[in-house]
Amino acid sequence: MHSYTLIAPAKINLYLEIIGDRADNYHELAMILQSIDLADEIELGSISTDTIRVHCNHPQVPTDQSNLAYRAAELMTTQFPNTFAKYGGVEITITKRIPVAAGLAGGSTNAAAVLVGINLLWKLGLTQSELEELGATLGSDVPFCVAGGTAIATGRGEQLSPLASLNNIYIVLGKYKSLEVSTPWAYKSYREEFGDSYVRDSDNLAVRASAVHSGEMVKAILHQDAKEIAKKLHNDLEKVVLPAYPQVLQLRETFASAGVLGTMMSGSGPSVFALCESQEHAEEVKLQVRSATKNDDLELFVTQAIAHGIQIAF
Ligand code: ATP
Repeated sequence: MHSYTLIAPAKINLYLEIIGDRADNYHELAMILQSIDLADEIELGSISTDTIRVHCNHPQVPTDQSNLAYRAAELMTTQFPNTFAKYGGVEITITKRIPVAAGLAGGSTNAAAVLVGINLLWKLGLTQSELEELGATLGSDVPFCVAGGTAIATGRGEQLSPLASLNNIYIVLGKYKSLEVSTPWAYKSYREEFGDSYVRDSDNLAVRASAVHSGEMVKAILHQDAKEIAKKLHNDLEKVVLPAYPQVLQLRETFASAGVLGTMMSGSGPSVFALCESQEHAEEVKLQVRSATKNDDLELFVTQAIAHGIQIAF
């Protein structure tokens, strides 16, 4: 086969704790990540020239070397030069449905799809953990996006421990189209404001990060208890993003007053999600938030937790 179509789901953070600085200048994190069925579509095919070409239907997404999907393809060409020479270049067509710069790992999941797709296209036979290892060189969220589902992520987010998949968790997600939050800005601001309370020595960093494994959120997930999960939602980055972006705070408050189980910003924002009792409840909440906000710039999605990352579309 000379082309594949892949489904690349977004993720939300059910839990995001910043523990301290690492020797490599990244933050030591303890997160719980969840794939959702809001997804981009990635078409991947061989082309006769030895180039990488990216197309995307979204005007804010670059199609040059700065696109993470491009960088994933470039990584494969440098890692497997002989296979690249045999099969030629790749053409990547991204149909964007995941809001951009939203804290939903849109770029990372596109990169993960390209790694999975080129592995198939070039018949490389790489394992999931080999793909995750390659993904970690592109970005901290890329390894999670490969297999997706529900997982604890520690280190800078690349050390993964899968958890039991969550079933029947319905979510409403909101994002102001014109509002973007830079992930590096959010972490830098957090360090400036809260760096004094960081755990400093490397042994304690690891101990604190591993505490998430026996924490309340993991227990709630193991019991498939949506109400408890909603109570334990946590995101340290809210402490810097909410004061700087009043619209995000307001959206979170609007969700809370719509009677959801719990609400939280995802990743570095500015998207905000809310857990609901059922799909019907999620649809009602969406309508309620829409009429309370009356702002066309606000995009709202009803979505659900899913048990997988990148998949081939049939
Ligand atoms: P994360 O949650 O991993 O921090 P994000 O969801 O906040 O990511 P992205 O949607 O990945 O953010 O976009 C961040 C920036 O990366 C955008 O400003 C965009 O220009 C750029 N970018 C590069 N490649 C892509 C891609 N394939 N899809 C979306 N954005 C991309």
